[in-house]
Amino acid sequence: MVRCAVCGSEIEKPLKTWTVIVGKNRRTKITFGTFLCERCRRKFKASIGKEPLKPEPKTKPYPPPFMTMYV
Ligand SMILES: [Zn+2]
Repeated sequence: MVRCAVCGSEIEKPLKTWTVIVGKNRRTKITFGTFLCERCRRKFKASIGKEPLKPEPKTKPYPPPFMTMYV
């Protein structure tokens, strides 16, 4: 939920949302939304969520424990 920057009324549903991936290693996903205030009829954008992305397991997989040799 987001508050209108002009009149302060709460807006529950965004008209539209989209996500942007930012960060040095593209590890943070930010969700933005376009909101329309019912009271003052203003449209504005706000970020509504931010979450870290899990690193992709693209490096070669570690050998399973039973294949690891301990010397
Ligand atoms: Zn408003």
